This record gives sequence, C-alpha cells and structure tokens, in this order.
Amino acid sequence: MEELSRVVLITGASRGIGRAIALRLAEQGHRIAVNYNSHKEDAEKVLEEINKLGASGIIVKANVSVLDEVQEMIKTVENSLGNIEILYNNAGIISDSLLMRMKPEDFDKVIDTNLKGTFYCTKLCINNMIKNRWGRVINISSVVGIRGNIGQSNYSASKAGIHSFTKSVAKEVATRNITVNVIAPGYVSTATTNVLSEKVKKEVMSWIPMQRFGEPEEIAPIAAFLSREEARYITGEIIRVDGGMAI
Ligand code: NDP
Repeated sequence: MEELSRVVLITGASRGIGRAIALRLAEQGHRIAVNYNSHKEDAEKVLEEINKLGASGIIVKANVSVLDEVQEMIKTVENSLGNIEILYNNAGIISDSLLMRMKPEDFDKVIDTNLKGTFYCTKLCINNMIKNRWGRVINISSVVGIRGNIGQSNYSASKAGIHSFTKSVAKEVATRNITVNVIAPGYVSTATTNVLSEKVKKEVMSWIPMQRFGEPEEIAPIAAFLSREEARYITGEIIRVDGGMAI
C-alpha cells in the first residue's frame, strides 16, 4: 500500500527512542518536526540525519508540560510543515524514589511531563485530525505502567494514566479514521537507563526473559508500523516491546 508523505511531530526526539523513531520515519519520506526541550544541538544533529535520509523537517523547542509552549510549538509546525497528521507523544522523564521519600514536586513534574504533556499535545492536534478525517496518535508509555515498579510510583502512575487516556481518546475519534495506540517499552539502552548502577541493571536483567535491554532501533519499527495506512484497524491497543518482561 503506497504511503503518503505526512506531517509528523515527535516529542522528545533529540535523543533515545524519539530519535530512533524520527530516523525510521525519515526513511518513509515524511516531513518531521523534532521536538526537544534542552538539547538543541542533539536535535540539530537528528535533523541533519533526517535530511541525509532524503526527508525534510524542522526542530522545535517546547517543554511539553507547559501549555503555552505546546501551543506555540504546534503553531510553528503547522506554519512550516502543515497540519500534524501523525503525533508521537514520546517525551518523558523519571524522578525515582521510594514513596516514603518522594517529594510532591517529584510526583508533579513526572505527571506533568509524561501524562499532562501527552494530554496537551493530543488535545491540540486532534481537531485538525478530525477535520482531515485521518490521524495517528502513538503514545510511548512503559512496561512499568502495566506491572508497577519499586521507586517509580510517580512514573508508573503517569504511564498507566497514558494507557486509559489512550483507550478513551481512541473510542472518541474511532469513526474519523484516527487511531490512538500505546507502545510500552521495557528497559531500553538510552540516557534514562545508562544511569542505573550495575547492581540495579543485574536485578532488572533477572526480570527479562530475553536477558538483555532493548535498543531504540527495536522500538522504532513498530512505532513506524502504527503510523501506516495498513495499521488502520488497530486502535486503543497497548503493544509491549519488552523482551518478555511483562509476560
Ligand atoms: P531520553 O532520556 O533518552 O530522552 C528523553 C527525550 O525527551 C529527550 O529528547 C528530551 O529532550 C525529551 N524531554 C524530556 N522532558 C521534556 C519536556 N518536558 N518537554 C519536551 N521534551 C522533553 O529518553 P528515552 O528515549 O529513554 O525515553 C523516551 C520515552 O520512552 C519516554 O517517554 C520514556 O518514559 C519511555 N520509556 C523509556 C524506557 C527506557 O528504558 N529508556 C523504557 C520505557 C519507556 P531534551 O534532551 O532536549 O531535553
């Protein structure tokens, strides 16, 4: 099935999983907006790589937890590339500690970035998708949103919130050719997991039947597939890419 060149926004695409998704979509010739928050140089490098693959795009700064910045980002993307047709809510942070020690601000900032950021971006893109009668929203959650994790009550709650947000929005927009899905990665080798101590990594490994972390390039193909025309009958789904961790 021939794919049209679409306008794509990927939040948190300056590094890690978002970057891998951007490069995979560039191979499909889409016009890609690379969102970043603090690492402009990394975002510029991703855009260079996109261009080398023969696709076009822009970089766009915004903190997804701030509504005004999300509004500004979407205006910028629409003015330079056109209406957003495919949205990846990928930007995410952790701020781990046991509940006993967790400060309210640690809870808030993780919920604000991961869950509220997903809400803001989706809300502001969905009207045009409805008007165009076509759209794809792909939310990146985590396997800990399914199984919980010690020290991550804030993060796992934010990701579990994304699951029910996705299912509800999927129902709301299903008749408009818009699908809304989740990819729930397990542990993936990125800046987020590089900070784990060897002791923690060893323990995590014992939970993973495949006994290794995933790579961003192992998340990107399924992320790309969900954006395609042939994935049109999949909606409200949570797809784990976790080496079997949540079996
Ligand atoms: P990285 O830490 O490698 O990159 C995070 C990205 O998110 C960066 O591009 C960063 O931008 C961006 N970002 C962070 N905060 C904001 C914000 N407030 N506004 C806009 N952008 C922001 O993350 P990963 O690639 O590891 O993770 C990507 C997604 O995958 C996250 O949602 C994460 O929760 C999820 N995930 C990751 C797993 C893993 O093991 N790595 C496992 C399961 C899920 P900048 O650098 O410019 O600030």
